Amino acid sequence: MMDGLSRRQFLRNGAVAGAAAAVPLRTGPPETSQVVQKPKIKEYRTLGRTGMKVSDIGLGAAYTQDAALIDYVLDCGVNYVDTGERYSNGRNEALIGELAGKRRKDFFLTTKLALRLTDTEESLIARFNQCLSRLQTRYVDVLMAHDSRSKELISLPAFHSAFRKLKADGKARFLGLSEHDTTMDEVCNYAIEDGRFDVVLLVYNFMQEKAADIIKNAKKKEVGVVIMKALAASHPVQMRNLTRAQQQEMQQETARRIQQFQKEHNLTPEGFNGAAIRWILQNRDVGTILLSMRSFDDANRHIPSSGGKFTGQDPAQLDFYAALNGDRYCRHACGICQAHCPDGVAVNDVLRIESYFTNYREEKVAMVRYRDLAAAQKPMGCASCPGYCERQCPYGLPVRQRLIQAHALLSL
Ligand code: SF4
Ligand code: SF4
Repeated sequence: MMDGLSRRQFLRNGAVAGAAAAVPLRTGPPETSQVVQKPKIKEYRTLGRTGMKVSDIGLGAAYTQDAALIDYVLDCGVNYVDTGERYSNGRNEALIGELAGKRRKDFFLTTKLALRLTDTEESLIARFNQCLSRLQTRYVDVLMAHDSRSKELISLPAFHSAFRKLKADGKARFLGLSEHDTTMDEVCNYAIEDGRFDVVLLVYNFMQEKAADIIKNAKKKEVGVVIMKALAASHPVQMRNLTRAQQQEMQQETARRIQQFQKEHNLTPEGFNGAAIRWILQNRDVGTILLSMRSFDDANRHIPSSGGKFTGQDPAQLDFYAALNGDRYCRHACGICQAHCPDGVAVNDVLRIESYFTNYREEKVAMVRYRDLAAAQKPMGCASCPGYCERQCPYGLPVRQRLIQAHALLSL
């Protein structure tokens, strides 16, 4: 992908990746006061056969808690907002409803229903009507099957008949699905071929490129593509088993090396976010990228990358990030190691949920998701296992240790 300059040099310069990963690359967004002008969306793309002209940067609103921030993001030209029934038990939809009640015409809106094989047409329509009520709108542009992990689920007759009725009633315009599980390729390609889905929401970033072929298939069938997990988990501190003194010592030394390296190569911590976004925007078959925006500074940092070209220091920025986090980021939708676990541990799920806690600082969300994971999929027996999974991880993650730590961290 890149020339490899910074990774090799950085490691050669003595900043051991494990230690380096202990310090966040992102030292903080620019202060809002430094932004003299409201950033503006510069590019709108057609979202497959929906024909919707969507901003290349969209709002993944799951973690947004401020209606004024959504108002601001819309003023910046963002016109695609993604939510779901499941986010904060419907409270996220209610938050977006505050805006939809006032300026619904300014944005395209997606919400999602998590499917179960026992769902009926009536129960799905009833749940969806509650979504509309919270969203204070008559319709959504895309209704998605949320985190749909099997062909069986996305083919559920009750779901499709419910959607047909909702569409006929003008309550949902298009059908989509979201997938970030190890089954992403299989399920998304199946849905694209199936012909009933207009939009897919999937993982694609500079460290997890496996969706590239899915995106090509989607293009052929005119299925719109929306991207999540663009920033490759934004890995910061993962040193919870070290003493405070050890953490401080490592942070100081590593921070010194990082600063030195950044100075030598003219890299900025803030530059990483923009580089990661622009890397995805190179793919012209991508409609929009959903980015979490929890604060005005997040919005001011992300939106200026709209319409941007992947040039200049961008490749070095990403190489630098990969050097710091290559053996820490459990690639979304990967699962290579899982087939080698005799206990059936859902490695990819567990480490993704752990990243909600550690990286996104969404502790409650992470603990609830972990509670809901089937007991048989939790890493209960890792302490007494030689670590078959770890030998299979092509990225060198210390999988066994990470799982043991994740279980301790996430268990109520
Ligand atoms: S350490 Fe052993 S039990 Fe735990 S996930 Fe890996 S292979 Fe499975
Ligand atoms: S630990 Fe490694 S092999 Fe296993 S899911 Fe994560 S990135 Fe893939």
